[in-house]
Amino acid sequence: MVQPFCRSTYITLDEASIRHNIQVIRARLPEGVGVIAVVKDNAYGHGVREIAEAALRSGATRLAVATVGEALELRAAGITAPTLVFGPYDDHCVADAQAQSFALSVFDPAQAAIIRQGLAPSLAPLKVHLKVDTGMRRYGFQSPEDVLETIRALRALGRVEIEGLYSHYASADDLSSDAPEQQYARFVQFVEVLRAEGLLPPIVHLSNSAGAMRYPERSFSAVRLGIALYGLSPAPGFADHFGIPLRPVLSLRSIVAQLVDVAPGTAVSYGGTYVAPSPRRLATVPVGYGDGYDRRFSNKGAVLIRGQRAPIVGRVTMDAVVVDVTDIDGVAFGDEVVIIGRQGQEEISAEALAEALGTIPYEVTTRLARRLPRVIVSSDDAAP
Ligand SMILES: *Cc1c(COP(=O)(O)O)cnc(C)c1O
Repeated sequence: MVQPFCRSTYITLDEASIRHNIQVIRARLPEGVGVIAVVKDNAYGHGVREIAEAALRSGATRLAVATVGEALELRAAGITAPTLVFGPYDDHCVADAQAQSFALSVFDPAQAAIIRQGLAPSLAPLKVHLKVDTGMRRYGFQSPEDVLETIRALRALGRVEIEGLYSHYASADDLSSDAPEQQYARFVQFVEVLRAEGLLPPIVHLSNSAGAMRYPERSFSAVRLGIALYGLSPAPGFADHFGIPLRPVLSLRSIVAQLVDVAPGTAVSYGGTYVAPSPRRLATVPVGYGDGYDRRFSNKGAVLIRGQRAPIVGRVTMDAVVVDVTDIDGVAFGDEVVIIGRQGQEEISAEALAEALGTIPYEVTTRLARRLPRVIVSSDDAAP
């Protein structure tokens, strides 16, 4: 593959897989349900510009991020699609939302004052989505009365357009939990009260990836897809349980940057925690914890070279690891290395790395550093 950048370690993002993941989930939803692509934190580490553009080309109707800074970054990249900010903000950011036409979340009666202070009368109306707490206990109005009071306060300001109502599941990925049933029932209560008052906003959304996969019929106007958009299961076995064939979007690749034959007794990397027990052939791969590759893979992880697993020897450093390729035939300077993804018949998934680290795949990809170049590819274009 031709690399349009000087760093030999880079991320590829498969647009055909993004399209596929949206399609297999949308096929199960009622007609007309929109897809909000959740691209917070650099699109879960994948690369926000590339993912946002590809998701919009693939049928997503809206974007969502956690912070105003992330929304501004999308606009600076020329991405004008409707965008929702989940998290809180200061009064001096309210006019940015008006000027750049993204929506802010309102989840507490106290935010009416922040909006009043920041609202610019000369700019377009501020779009807001009201967020209600149905059991996540993080952000959200606690009662329909609080929501109604806040709607009245916002309406009194003029220039506020109440565009959406939403909530968020805490445990939709846990098949043994009935908490999502209670959250759904609670959300319906909020919806009914607002409807009865004639104040139900046009866009109503509840489900994250797990909710959209588990309760496709309970999708209201839109679902918010994060982890499933990236082709990763919200929890181990969850996508398989519903027969939904997600395809990972991201691969992390590098090259063999140096190849050395070492004598028995040779110590490798910081602290010499690995000492060659016999003559070994060692390859240096320029990926490290500075790229988001966890240091706990020291003397534990592996990468793929020529379709085989090459174990990491010694400590993971900021910029490189050393792997043992003694048992892999024909390894050459410049060979492709796969750190996350497939090579030949072998695969190292973000899910498997997460399991080895005792965390979730969300964290494994989200930590991938900004310094890694991102390139969009399409497996549909791959030679047969
Ligand atoms: C992160 C987030 C999502 C996406 O969740 P996934 O499990 O990745 O689908 C949806 N809604 C809110 C409010 C979020 O913070």
